Amino acid sequence: MPAVPPVNVYGEGRDIDRLVERRRDAEWFARVLVHDATRYIVGWNERLPVIYTPEGPRLAGVTHREVAGLVTGEPVLLGTLNEAIHVAIDATDSDEAAVLAALPDGARLSELREIGSLLPGAEAALTAAHRGVLLWHSAQRHCGRCGAPTLLAEAGHTLACTNKECGATHHPRIDPCAITLVTDGDRTLLGRNKRRPGSIFTCFAGFVEAGESLEGAAEREVFEEVGVRLSEVRYHSSQPWPFPGQMMVGFIGVAETFDIRLDEDEIAEARWFTREELRAIVPGGPVQLPRVDSVARRMLDGWINGEI
Ligand SMILES: [Zn+2]
Repeated sequence: MPAVPPVNVYGEGRDIDRLVERRRDAEWFARVLVHDATRYIVGWNERLPVIYTPEGPRLAGVTHREVAGLVTGEPVLLGTLNEAIHVAIDATDSDEAAVLAALPDGARLSELREIGSLLPGAEAALTAAHRGVLLWHSAQRHCGRCGAPTLLAEAGHTLACTNKECGATHHPRIDPCAITLVTDGDRTLLGRNKRRPGSIFTCFAGFVEAGESLEGAAEREVFEEVGVRLSEVRYHSSQPWPFPGQMMVGFIGVAETFDIRLDEDEIAEARWFTREELRAIVPGGPVQLPRVDSVARRMLDGWINGEI
């Protein structure tokens, strides 16, 4: 088993005060936006500003003065972390060079997938909120009910329809997805996904349907993908996964049937693995485990270590 770096799963945001109760106070938010202590996290083409320190990468925030020279979208209140209020802003309409010039010396624009697992937990959670809410803004420029343009409200956390007769308020779209680690005593069933080339074997996952419980989705997805029935399904943990707006909800399922019947559109291969086999995995080998910052990996590591 290779050494596993500290797991960050975007969900470790308890240190962030999201300031939900202040979001409707537009005057307060206007003052926050021009306060010198406010830290702006400037996104550019879905990349985020990071500075590399001896302790690893850290988000590189700037003040309203640096942001003033950029072409940006509207700001979104992220919350307070380490006593500073953080604001998300997108500057994709600016030149990359202009954005880099506005950042602290040595800062880079990095893909969230590359840095998410390396940032401190609360900073990673801020990046997940940043990405999730700004992607939602870009996808919801018009009201889903009447088609009129929408306007940002509540410091960026709701979108209000501009058609007074409609008056709809839209909230960030979050898609729940059940992901299940299937166990049978000292073995677990993992699958290799057809759409993701490579050697990663992972848990079975799928979106929850309208009118379905999370546990029901977990059971259904496992049966659809590998034909195995579960006798017991229990919740493990969850993780926001902002690519673009999933909420991964992890379950442990105990297998009741053992014959594998693959959904050949989805799954290239599925196999039972013992703990010993998974502990013996080495980088570059024919079987790889999922990303260290995924809930699938957190469940698998827990199971391998006998904690589940
Ligand atoms: Zn509307």
